Amino acid sequence: MLQRSVLPILKKSLYTTQVVQDKVSHPLVDNYQRHHDYLRISITERCNLRCTYCMPEGGVPLSAADSLLTTTEILRLAQLFVAQGVKKIRLTGGEPTVRPDILALVEGLGRLKGKGLESLAMTSNGIALKRKLPQLVASGLDTLNVSLDTLDPHLFEIMTRRRGFQRVTEAIDEAIQLNMKHVKINTVVMRGVNDAEVLNFAAYTKDRRVNVRFIEYMPFDGNQWNRQKLVPFKELIGRIEAVYGRLDRLTDTANDTTKHYKVPGYQGKLGFITSMTDHFCGTCNRLRITADGSIKVCLFGNTEVSLRDLIRNESTDEEIVQVISMAVKKKKKQHAGMFELASQKNRPMILIGG
Ligand code: SAM
Ligand code: SF4
Repeated sequence: MLQRSVLPILKKSLYTTQVVQDKVSHPLVDNYQRHHDYLRISITERCNLRCTYCMPEGGVPLSAADSLLTTTEILRLAQLFVAQGVKKIRLTGGEPTVRPDILALVEGLGRLKGKGLESLAMTSNGIALKRKLPQLVASGLDTLNVSLDTLDPHLFEIMTRRRGFQRVTEAIDEAIQLNMKHVKINTVVMRGVNDAEVLNFAAYTKDRRVNVRFIEYMPFDGNQWNRQKLVPFKELIGRIEAVYGRLDRLTDTANDTTKHYKVPGYQGKLGFITSMTDHFCGTCNRLRITADGSIKVCLFGNTEVSLRDLIRNESTDEEIVQVISMAVKKKKKQHAGMFELASQKNRPMILIGG
């Protein structure tokens, strides 16, 4: 992360080198012509679960409260990104629902619809979600991803190190009831832990309008990843087809990170997020802001620039956009490859937000 003292120098050098470059290219287009119109904002580092694949048992050291972005700062950045062409914003964390101002935040972001924002999404563990959902949806939340790795309450407790399985499934049902545009379930698959659950999840899609996406287990600081625990998506498809027969392959959208399938005749879908065995860097349209206000242009990259410091140093909108543009232009063509990732320094997943 850049030190506060470096920022004025960075801003100055930006003005001499970047202005010229930006005349010929859009701030959110990188050197490989990828247009970034999807922003993921982590709004907290805190969480009410302790998922084994996401963070160490003892939790992670949290940033001081005053170093996290305030509601006003988040809304200002969101507005800036939308003005530059961002069409989709996703709130993540930590667990977004533990942030006390979550309702006000979604309300503020919802107002960006009609100013260019087309979709407002949230990724949540669902524990404290059900009661908040109607108001969130009324404020403009249209897409919900709930993380659920098992349909077995006992295994849920082992994987999350907490109780609450029923509250999560109730939140999913509530989202379906509210007729949200997309209701998705994120399932991280770990060999020997919950890989047998894929068949239960396939059955779960029979009568529910949900999209269950199996995510390949990724390495982050402190999550004890190893290659044996990774179940490649092709193996998962094979296992499901052995029981359900051939799956229908659906059409994916342009920047989709998911390969979509369906059990013929079922209401819901099955998806595979193949970050490890078949990366999607070539069509990546995502930018991330961490809860402490740094822009991260790649989930697996450790380069970050603090937009919070710019805001607090009273930078203008134009200056902030210049810094964003410089960060985007530094985005690498693709991440280092799965084996290198495991040995690279990066924040734990809970501090990035997925
Ligand atoms: N607390 C929220 C939740 O769990 O949905 C949002 C934050 S969580 C970090 C975002 C997503 O990252 C979740 O769907 C989670 O399953 C996924 N995730 C966390 N650690 C992961 C890992 N090591 N590999 C793959 N996905 C991971
Ligand atoms: Fe919390 Fe989500 Fe990480 Fe689980 S995956 S520990 S719910 S942030």
